[in-house]
Amino acid sequence: MTQPQSPLPAADRAALAELLYPAVETDLAALRARHGAPRELPEGAMVTRFAPSPTGFIHIGSTMAALLCWKLAQQSDGVFILRIEDTDQNREVADGVRLIIEGLAQMGVHAAEGPRLDGSEAGAHGPYQQSHRLGIYHAYARDLVARGRAYPCFMASEELDEIREAQRAEEAPVGIWGTWARCRDLPVAEVERRLGAGEPWVLRLRSPASPGDRVPFADRVRGELDLSANYTDAVLLKSDGFPTYHFAHPIDDTLMGITLIIRGDEWLGTAPLHVQIFEALGFDFPPIAHIAPVAKQDGESRRKLSKRHDPEAAVSWYAEAGYPPGSVIEYLLNLLDSAFEDWRAANPDAPYTDFELSVDRLSRASSLFDLVKLGSVSKEVVSRYSPEQLLGAVTAWAAEHDPDFHGVIAADPAFAGRAMNIGREGDPPRKDIACWSEVPELYGFFFESRYAAMLPAAYAQIPEHLPDAAVLGALSAFGGELAVQPGESSRDWFGRVKAHALASGYASNSKKYNKRPDEFVGAIGDFMAVLRVVLTGSLRSPDLHEVMDILGADEVARRLELARSHYGNR
Ligand code: GLU
Repeated sequence: MTQPQSPLPAADRAALAELLYPAVETDLAALRARHGAPRELPEGAMVTRFAPSPTGFIHIGSTMAALLCWKLAQQSDGVFILRIEDTDQNREVADGVRLIIEGLAQMGVHAAEGPRLDGSEAGAHGPYQQSHRLGIYHAYARDLVARGRAYPCFMASEELDEIREAQRAEEAPVGIWGTWARCRDLPVAEVERRLGAGEPWVLRLRSPASPGDRVPFADRVRGELDLSANYTDAVLLKSDGFPTYHFAHPIDDTLMGITLIIRGDEWLGTAPLHVQIFEALGFDFPPIAHIAPVAKQDGESRRKLSKRHDPEAAVSWYAEAGYPPGSVIEYLLNLLDSAFEDWRAANPDAPYTDFELSVDRLSRASSLFDLVKLGSVSKEVVSRYSPEQLLGAVTAWAAEHDPDFHGVIAADPAFAGRAMNIGREGDPPRKDIACWSEVPELYGFFFESRYAAMLPAAYAQIPEHLPDAAVLGALSAFGGELAVQPGESSRDWFGRVKAHALASGYASNSKKYNKRPDEFVGAIGDFMAVLRVVLTGSLRSPDLHEVMDILGADEVARRLELARSHYGNR
């Protein structure tokens, strides 16, 4: 283990601190009282934070982490904080903060503390945007320099490259450490001269470890680990005075009173560096959980859900497809905590906020993202919507993403509401809507303009083995003696349909027909298929009796007539 503290005498270190950070607050206790006063919270309350960089892209995996942080705070009467990590000026997007706040709000996640859309901030532990906290970082930096735990480094990138080359050639561990850390103990006068000459510099940690050192590390998800210690003098503050993530988050998490750090496991490798920085700053290392990324099955292997290759990696994709936020939340809760599914089955009507998520059940392995499963979770969620909620949600989605369908709904909202609600009040209820963009496809046939667009191509689905005469016969029967009588139940109507079909030479089921096709016109299903295709443009449709009820007798007659003239003119 290297000497963690500079050999310079205390007076020199103080002079160095003053040279580097002449205008910062030196009373750290006062600073901490102002920005990080202890919170008055109930026993067991968790303070968590979501700390994204405003890059303009919100990955569904980050959303999952945000949801986890928010849920833990919500269920423990704690505090969920949004902190914007905008210290990498190159990666920022102008309205990145707004996109994050809106992205979270879309998922029903609101931070009790953090930036707000109007530019103000909620909470007394701010600022919540790292670029507004430079004075705080510099105050702690000054203290580290004064205590000999950090130092200015003037090495330019060419020198760093040259060191790396030399280390490679010598097969030495790569990085700025030991004697390679050439600026570690520069005399004050030299620092003064180089600062005076305007040389750029960064602030580096004086790492107390050596290559090969190991450190024990306790992680709430991964358990007790044995990791490689950090032996390099990592950069704490860059030449533009902005902190690195490594330096900013220990200060922020401590001042903001975070009780559990939750972050992606890509940070596990640098966690030993973070331990050193917390220690150098005199802070306790808080409990921490490194969570696995969201993965996708790709053939035989699993890979991280990628921004570049998987559209569903972007949180905006879900809003565009029209997944209700509640569905995405429930699906993510499912991925996070395997107990959610059983809880949901036992509590079908409870709000998801009632579920108690457990950090102990978080998975070490990457969670496998599966759109089919999302779909089935979502169908359940949608089945709990009231007809009014359903109509409202589809209308709002269409207004933004499908203006044409929005016009269709707006022409007769009451009719649209009945159409979408078909079968949803049955026993068992119909559960076929996973996202709003499926609605125009599933129920478009109800609406005249969409129905017209399906013709005549849709007729091709009528079973080919039915001769035109049989199709025409079915059409005239459904328009005549088989029309639904006022007040006639589905069962009674179907009883009459069946009797008619059998009397007209159809087999009572397809098995019978397939065995002796020569003896029958078709099977009863074929007879029904004529009506199904003609009314709905598809062989798969909701209950026909209900469809006819919603369409009304006149429209049913019109559709039958259209088909009759099509077949009559062939
Ligand atoms: N800004 C970091 C990231 O986006 C935050 C990591 C953390 O939560 O500590 O990965």
